[in-house]
Amino acid sequence: MTAQQRRALEARDPTCVVPGCGVSRHLEIDHRDGWALTRRTELSALARVCAYHHRLKTYEGWSYQGGSGRWRWIAPDGTVVTDEAPEELVRSGPDPP
Ligand SMILES: [Zn+2]
Repeated sequence: MTAQQRRALEARDPTCVVPGCGVSRHLEIDHRDGWALTRRTELSALARVCAYHHRLKTYEGWSYQGGSGRWRWIAPDGTVVTDEAPEELVRSGPDPP
């Protein structure tokens, strides 16, 4: 990875990309699909995560999807964590007739 790519990645992911995490120090660069699999170092294949979430992804079966501003963090059981409010909370009042 070039110094230019690193700076661009730091600008895109100022904090851990996991919604609600917000850690901004000592971030680690993760290859989304595993570098051995893709051999790609394009920015779209990389994301910055904190050591804790990096470990969850690497060893505990968690994963993430999306991109800048719309990251989704997915639990091993398929539960999705996003920055957006759950749909039930967005809807209000009774269903229209
Ligand atoms: Zn994190």
